[in-house]
Amino acid sequence: MPAPGELTFVAPRGAKKPPRHLADLTPQERREAVAEIGEKPFRAKQLSQHYFGRLAHRPEEWTDIPAAARGRLAEELLPELMSVVRHISCDDDATRKTLWRLHDGTLVESVLMRYPDRVTMCVSSQAGCGMNCPFCATGQAGLDRNLSTAEIVHQIVDGARALRDGEVAGGSARLSNIVFMGMGEPLANYKRVLGAIRRLTDPAPDGLGISQRGITVSTVGLVPAMHRFADEGLSCRLAVSLHAPDDELRNTLVPVNTRWTVREVLDAAWRYADVSGRRVSIEYALIRDINDQGWRADLLGRLLKGRRAHVNLIPLNPTPGSKWTASRPEDEAEFVRALETHGVPVTVRDTRGQEIDGACGQLAASQR
Ligand code: SAH
Repeated sequence: MPAPGELTFVAPRGAKKPPRHLADLTPQERREAVAEIGEKPFRAKQLSQHYFGRLAHRPEEWTDIPAAARGRLAEELLPELMSVVRHISCDDDATRKTLWRLHDGTLVESVLMRYPDRVTMCVSSQAGCGMNCPFCATGQAGLDRNLSTAEIVHQIVDGARALRDGEVAGGSARLSNIVFMGMGEPLANYKRVLGAIRRLTDPAPDGLGISQRGITVSTVGLVPAMHRFADEGLSCRLAVSLHAPDDELRNTLVPVNTRWTVREVLDAAWRYADVSGRRVSIEYALIRDINDQGWRADLLGRLLKGRRAHVNLIPLNPTPGSKWTASRPEDEAEFVRALETHGVPVTVRDTRGQEIDGACGQLAASQR
């Protein structure tokens, strides 16, 4: 356990940039970087094979590289980006949250969730978040900084390694799904998140070789970035955090709605669905007496009817001091029924990780 007080450390805003790392670079850039320090370009492939293929980021493990060269290569291309402050588990160890300290002291969290048929990792794309949604713990603290591509990727590489090595209860396993639903708004850190998606999905040894279909990017609805994302031609899933079908309420729950309305956000979502061929996931946190009325369920049903959409209802996880709480079971059931009446597919999300503050919207590392 860390010493008391350790977790309350807040990094200064605008701290210096994270060090350059192999996972920030394309394969071509890796060859150039290796050549720049006077090493043979093929070393880039060897390093990629170690990092992405074998999940071996420590120089002692690179036995096909002369010992004399390892130190320099590690320093230039695989610097230590982050360290584990602690892991906390719950749900009979099927859920594990990791608190990371980045090179400048910034804290971020990731969560690994094990299901019978898959393992999902929820990763952070920013330290903090600038979107200011009042029901979300990360939103309360404001934006600290963007994560680099490698800082995003390393959360996953380490998660994959821990799983393979049997560090997570349930035996050795492979990571199948990644959701950008940790701290931050991924589309507000567009270039670095896209870089991370490339590293995750490029076949080994250039990347981790995870299927694009297993990756979900969740957004508050930054419309221009949603269009740009559609134009990338990926088959990742897009999740849209809607939370209200009407602008009046959504303006308060998701403040960026004053910039792009429900209508504009949904239009961009349908375009993404058309281009990618994937159903868009509509996220809706059910908040008692705020957004769970029958007429709102009906309005939502009418907006989504016949579209390539799936609604994910999330019982609100109240954040500390919140005046809001989750919907009554009967209101939740009625909400589901109203959507089904319109033929809209709907599921209620399980709330893994609640008791370790690792559930949806509870990640807020720098506050604790
Ligand atoms: N910024 C992105 C991704 C981060 S949050 C986005 O907003 O989509 C992932 C999901 O958790 C979002 O749908 C978010 O609205 C939801 N969420 C945030 N706080 C929550 C809370 N307290 N209870 C339930 N869901 C919450």
